Amino acid sequence: MNRISRRIAAIAESATLAVDAKAKALQAVGEQVVNFGAGEPDFPTPSHIVEAAAAACREPRNYRYTPAAGLPELREAVADRTGRDSGYEVVPAQVLITNGAKQAIYEAFATLLDPGDEVIVPAPFWTTYPEAITLSGGVPVAVSTELADDFRVSVDALEAARTERTKVLLLVSPSNPTGTVYSSSELEDIGRWADAHGLWVVTDEIYGQLVYGGVEQHSLPVLVPELAERTVVINGVAKTYAMTGWRVGWMVGPMDIVKAAANLQSHTTSNVGNVSQRAALAALTGDQSSVATMRDAFDRRRRRMVDLLSDIPGVAIAEPRGAFYCFPSLEGVVGRSVRGRISATTLELAEVILDEAKVAVVPGEAFGAPGFARLSYALSDDDLVEGVTRIAKLVAE
Ligand code: PMP
Repeated sequence: MNRISRRIAAIAESATLAVDAKAKALQAVGEQVVNFGAGEPDFPTPSHIVEAAAAACREPRNYRYTPAAGLPELREAVADRTGRDSGYEVVPAQVLITNGAKQAIYEAFATLLDPGDEVIVPAPFWTTYPEAITLSGGVPVAVSTELADDFRVSVDALEAARTERTKVLLLVSPSNPTGTVYSSSELEDIGRWADAHGLWVVTDEIYGQLVYGGVEQHSLPVLVPELAERTVVINGVAKTYAMTGWRVGWMVGPMDIVKAAANLQSHTTSNVGNVSQRAALAALTGDQSSVATMRDAFDRRRRRMVDLLSDIPGVAIAEPRGAFYCFPSLEGVVGRSVRGRISATTLELAEVILDEAKVAVVPGEAFGAPGFARLSYALSDDDLVEGVTRIAKLVAE
């Protein structure tokens, strides 16, 4: 008999967290590492949110179990903010507060999928999705997209991947890792296609507040209201309010799905920590000006990084319009000698870049896209310039 179940043994370590850990380990022994691996804002959580949490620590009502689906006032605040930010009008019973958006993603697939049900996943994809799908008994079906198309998936490509077993389409806009943001007409076409075939859609809008250059964020169930009955929206406070460590996310969906997922949560993690929920409540209901301030900083860094990367021979890039990642092709560098080392893949190249330039990037293999790498621009302007300059020098040698 196996020590570890087949189901769990099949899970790969999160590649993004692994790169981050390796970079931090090098930093711990005194190396000046520039870390483009992290998927989190470098800003502190805004102080009014921290103060609300500090006050919550002193309130005995927060010392006890609370409803598994979330504090009623936070569910209401999420419903309210969803309506205000995206135009999707929902009631609190359609909201489930989870331990970060990650738990919402896992619970959404666990609630929707029976063994063998297929989920169409446009690639490049964030590394967690296929694991959450597989763990739930589902089968991820990757549909590749091209840099030349700005990594947009077409209805034709989706249709080619659809089978009798397809139950769900996963759609992420703005995308991690590519930064692609779908236009309203593209989303509408995709939504109408999904609706016509009776598919469900899980749509991750966690970077919805982080779009740049005049691009607008749109929410699928607003554009295709008929699909709302079969749509689960994933979101959370992590990226918008620099709150990755607080672990508060949510799903918004049809009431029966939310109720079923809440039942699952009631037997696994129960309520999210009350202090974190109170912090999230302050984030959603309080002053929103810090969101714009952080967005402006990300935008400035985004433009800087795109400029610097575009200047490196062998590097090709599509301009990201949302989230905080660049996803350049390094095809032109793979196979070349870098400090006497020839990498056959971006997985190897990322190691060479970390060893030789002390710069951490996440290889595209982690996102189902060999040949590429993800660089987060959620780090200081100086570090950003230093890191990309080191890569440029290394590959120019
Ligand atoms: N969705 C996407 C697209 C993400 O990039 C991330 C974090 N990297 C998450 C969800 C998870 O967010 P949380 O920290 O709230 O679990």
